Amino acid sequence: MLSKILKIIDIWKWHKNTFPQATSKSQLIKLQSEINEVVDAKKELRNANNYQMRNIKRKHVREELIDVIITSINCLRYQDIYEDVCIKMSSNKQRDWNTKTMHHKENDNGK
Ligand SMILES: [Mg+2]
Repeated sequence: MLSKILKIIDIWKWHKNTFPQATSKSQLIKLQSEINEVVDAKKELRNANNYQMRNIKRKHVREELIDVIITSINCLRYQDIYEDVCIKMSSNKQRDWNTKTMHHKENDNGK
């Protein structure tokens, strides 16, 4: 657990040093951009027409998802985003969750 927290701090330090001009707004724009890259990578995966290409594209989708996670971690550097995460988590804790689909039950379409 401690090593994971230290990794998050390491990612924050890297982000702060690499992008000192970043703001919460620019970081959320970056997050949307990374999400779009996941969508594009999934389209490429759907269009892959052989086993070897599907494996390459699957790896690419995962890499783009990891970019989303790293960008999300960096979003937490900003107080306004952090506070919104706390508020949303408080709301999430009040909801009923389907442990199989991992959707909250009032919005669970059986996906
Ligand atoms: Mg990316």
